[in-house]
Order: sequence, then structure tokens, then C-alpha cells
Amino acid sequence: MSRDTQHGFSPREKQIELAGEILDALCGIGIQLAEAEVGIGKTLAYLLPAALIRRGRANSGKINTMSPQNGCQQPVVIATSSIALQRAIEQEYIPTLSEILMKHKIISTPLTSALRKGKGNYLCERRLLNFVAHANRQTKTIAAPLLSGRTVDLASVKGLTPYIKRNICVDKHCGKSCPKFGQCRYMRHLAEVRRGGYDFQVCNHNYLLADIIHRSKNVNPLLPDYQAVIIDEAHKFLDAARGMYGASILLTELYRVVKDVRGFTFGPGQSTAGVTREAERILSKAGLLFQYLNDEVPETGEDEDAQRYPTKIRQRTAALISALKENIDALAVMLEARSVAERFADQFNDAKRSLGRIGESLGAFTKHECLVYWLEEGEYPALIPEKADYLLNTLQGIPKNLGGLLHRDLWSMRVPIILTSGTLSAAGSFDHIKKKTGIGLVPGRRLSEASKPSPFNHKENALLYISEGVPFPNNKDADYIAALAAEIERLVNASHGHAAVLFTSYRAMDMVWEKITARRLPYPLLRLDRGGAAVIEQFSNSGNGVLFASGAMWEGIDIPGDILSMLIIPRLPFAVPDPVSEWEKSLYSGMDEYKAKVIVPEMLVKLKQGFGRLIRTETDTGIVAILDSRASSRGAYRLRVLAALPECGVATNIPEVKKFIQYKKTPAYFLDSGLRS
Ligand code: SF4
Repeated sequence: MSRDTQHGFSPREKQIELAGEILDALCGIGIQLAEAEVGIGKTLAYLLPAALIRRGRANSGKINTMSPQNGCQQPVVIATSSIALQRAIEQEYIPTLSEILMKHKIISTPLTSALRKGKGNYLCERRLLNFVAHANRQTKTIAAPLLSGRTVDLASVKGLTPYIKRNICVDKHCGKSCPKFGQCRYMRHLAEVRRGGYDFQVCNHNYLLADIIHRSKNVNPLLPDYQAVIIDEAHKFLDAARGMYGASILLTELYRVVKDVRGFTFGPGQSTAGVTREAERILSKAGLLFQYLNDEVPETGEDEDAQRYPTKIRQRTAALISALKENIDALAVMLEARSVAERFADQFNDAKRSLGRIGESLGAFTKHECLVYWLEEGEYPALIPEKADYLLNTLQGIPKNLGGLLHRDLWSMRVPIILTSGTLSAAGSFDHIKKKTGIGLVPGRRLSEASKPSPFNHKENALLYISEGVPFPNNKDADYIAALAAEIERLVNASHGHAAVLFTSYRAMDMVWEKITARRLPYPLLRLDRGGAAVIEQFSNSGNGVLFASGAMWEGIDIPGDILSMLIIPRLPFAVPDPVSEWEKSLYSGMDEYKAKVIVPEMLVKLKQGFGRLIRTETDTGIVAILDSRASSRGAYRLRVLAALPECGVATNIPEVKKFIQYKKTPAYFLDSGLRS
């Protein structure tokens, strides 16, 4: 395949090596951690061996399956974090690979794939009918065309607002009681994608996790039995697992559901008195619960960028949680015995669903000693009365034994599993990811590791600048912020804009932003705040802009070309301490061991991810500037930082940086100016 220049491919030695190692793992029941840095082409490196085992072209005698009698008829599941990658796999990578394999007569029929998404992405004909019947004219005009036709995937329909989608998508109460059961478009779609004839089932991490949780509870699985699992963007899998195995209580959800329940008019002879009484009890207990939880949040020591606030479930809080659960369950039972007019059926079902979810989460918190839990800021709608308007109105928890649960439900399945990502290891070791995910519990003979460095010529094309002049990072120190802003200004001038500044703290970003904007630099200044993805496009079109960013910019954002030629990292990306890290620390002999085995490796993984934003293609050139004194020539982490990053020249002064840019860039680079239309 690598020689198939007709499709734009050129040989990549490391990609071929990786494909071979993945093939070995897929032919057994191994679990492989496959790290493939930018430029390796990891997607094709796993799709090719996966296609070969699926089509029985790779030593079929060795292939293990969930149901061995089905041979290799079962699909390969590919789970990714982002919808963009799922689409690319389904619509670009698999068709291209299929074409090449067909051309070379390796397979005789095209490869097939089914994109699997949650129910909320599909059209429910029953809800659509109900919605259109009661919608206003404008909404009706948008939704009515869906009544005819074969559309089932809501993403394929233009103009649907989130409100309309929410009201016409398949909900949890889709089931045998529906007169259209088995015949509607969604049901036909489901039967089609479940039939197992596809080579690949492509889904997100949550969908795969939901499937394995269903299997562990003997509930109908979401996916057909599969012969192999590939988890791409695997560095995000742990977060997805925390969400799926975790529990949460949202005060706003409690208030919303009670408000809805109070508004229902039940069928003839169905009393509201008991329901109202139970709803009142829930409201008063929910308010008290969050009062208790907020009272336990320590007054001091909060990091300004903290998102998880420690709290304590003491005896009285635990008793309240149990009592609240009883009220929620009692209300759910009352609603089951009641009915509402057809036009309110969806809202009624939503309320029942919310009560079920809240009851389940409260159940998890009755065993709070098995959870790591904390408070977070949540949604703050007007319906919450003043006496309960806590800013920290969401209680979150994750199982302490998450690794054990993943081991029970996923890693111990007798199928090969590949976890791949651009960054999984730290300083050549996968130990921290193995420990956190429970993969470390798997017998060593099933485990293998592969790590392929980027084929890009970092020595030639990249320069690492480590500042010697910025003081020790301390956002509360005005001198530090002033020195940081001045250094950023010097670097941005040296690279003639074309820069991104990658912060670890929104607070620090705000303070530096204020100083830099006051300096009126001759470059478009942009900032990427939480969720502002359109800014990336603006930056890409800005000619020589300077982007201030944090959060998502550290990973998964691809900005090739000259526009990103200077990547400034003000501070080494150590994680903000929170209740999860506090608990993790207790699993080690002390702070020193925890730091060496978790804190520093995780910082290095994140730093590598950040560095990886710079060189995205063979022709990209640029500088990564680290302004943290802990990486300077006197810094404690210098050697580990240098060992973790791709080998390239190291500069310690700005003139060297300027020279590198002048040498590497064409005259056109220095002419770019202002936002392009
Ligand atoms: S079977 Fe489910 S998806 Fe189909 S119309 Fe009925 S409720 Fe909607």
C-alpha cells in the first residue's frame, strides 16, 4: 500500500513496521499499546491489518473470536473520541483502503462499515409526528419534510435546531409498546447495522463503553459480537470511562424534573396529591443536600483554575442521600402508575427517565466510600430558588476501582484490543496509562507495546527555545506575569506573528492577554476560550495572527503550514491538583513516588501533545518556546523535558530564534498581514 503512489501514498518505514506489529497483536488475543507520533499514518497502519483479519487473509487459524463458530465473520470495532475522526474513517480511510485492496486483488468485494451513534442522533417517527402536530408554523416548515422520505440520521438534515433535534430524536422510551416498533426507519436502520455483515463498526468511546457495560449486566449489547477492538485517540479513553462508569447529581436536573412533574395533569381518577407531596420532599432534601456538600468545601487552598472542588459526605449527608433516593424512587413508582395526555407523553417520559437516572446515581452515592467524588459548577437556571442557588451545584463521582471495572468488562474479553494514539507513553514508559486504565492487571503475556517516533525531520525543521529569564511560575506574582508577557512579545516579534501561546490556566491567559493587547502589536490577536472552535479557522486565515489558547488546543487540533510557526508554552503542563489526584496520591508510598510515577509522566505526555501541534507535515518549520524556569538550564525538569521531546536544536536566546525563522521562511512569510477575507 505504501507503494501505491496513485492514491498519494509514499513508503513510510515506521508505518509498515507498526502495521506488522498491530497485525501480530490482532492475530492473537493481545492487548497492544501502540503509540504513533504525528506523520506515521496510524489510521491506515491499523485499518490494513484489521481488514486482513476480518477478511481471513491473515493466518485465520489463529484468529480468536467472541463466538468461534462464526470464524472471522464478526466485525472489527473502531472506537474514537471525535466525530471528525469517525467520519474520516468511514468516509475516507476505509473507502480508499478498500479501493487499493480491490485493485491489488487482495479482497474481492469492497470493505464496508457502519457508523454507530447514540439514539439521540436518530429520527423517531412517533415523536416527529407528535412534534409536528403541535409545532408553530416556522418549526413545522423545518421539521415536516422529514415525515416523508427515508432520513434517519439527523446529522444529515440541514437547518435542524438543537431544540427540534431534542424533540424528534429517539429517546430511552423507544420500545415494544410503540405501535411502530420493528417497522419505523430507526428500527430498520438498527436491524441493518446490527446484522453483523459489516467489516467495521465505527463508534465513539462512550458507545463502546456502553456496549461493554450492557454486556456486563446481561442487557442487550449495542454492537454485534466483534472479533477485535481498536481504540483510537486512546489518551482520551480514560476520561470517557470515568464519565460512563461515574455518577452525577445535578441540582438543576432535580429542580427541573420536579417542576415538570408538578405541571402534569394526570388521567381521570389519578390523584396528584401524593405526587405533589413527594415532589415537595424532594425539593427540600435536594436543597439541604447541596447545602451540606457546599459547607464541606474548604475555604482556602483553591486553585483559581480548579474545576473540581473537594467536599465530604459525612453521616448526615449520607442519610440524606438515602432518604432522597427513597423519595425519588417513590415518585418514579407513582408516575409509572399514572398517564398524561398524548401530547405531553414525551415530557412525561423524559421526567420518568430523569428520575431513573437520578435514582441510579443516588444509589451509587449511597456507597460513596467506593467513589472519588467532588463538587463542580453546573448550569444555573432561573428556576432554582435563591435559598438553593449554590454555584457548586453538581456532585460528581467516579469509581475508585475504575481500572478493575475496565479489566473485568473490557480487557479480560478474549478478543485482541489495540489502543493507539499520538501520545501514550512518557519517557519511553507506558506504566502510568497501564496502571490508570487497569491494563496493568492483564497477564504480561497478553500485553505488547509499540512506539513509533514521528518521521518528520525535527532536527532540521524545529527549534526548541527554553527561556532563561522568566521567573518561577506564579500567577499571583505581578512581576512574573509582566516578565512572561514581555518574553511572549519578544518571541512573537521574532517570528513575525504566526504564533500560538498555549496556556495551562485561563486566569494566566487573561492576565497576559490584557498586557499584550495594551501593547498594540501589529498582528491580529485572537483567543480561544472554552468551546470557541471557530477561532481556529479565523487564526488559520489570519495571515500572521497570534492565538491565545488553553484547554483543547493542547491536543487534537491540526494547524499545518506557516501560520503556526511559533508555539509558546508559558508553563509546564502539570495537572491542577484535585480530589482525583489527592486520592491517587494515597495509593503511593508518598508524594515523591506519586510525583515520579504519575505527576511528572503525565506532564511530559501533555507537553509532547502540545509540542506535536507545531510540525504537522513534512514541510512545516517552526519553534517551540518553553518559558518555565523549571525547564531552564538550572531547572529540575530540564533533562526529562529534553528526553521527552523530539530531538531538535535548543536555543537560549531570541536572536537565535529570529535567525532560525529568517533562514527557514520564504519572503512571502514576512509580508503576510491582517485577517484574510
Ligand atoms: S419504535 Fe422507537 S424509534 Fe421507532 S417510532 Fe417507535 S419510539 Fe420511535
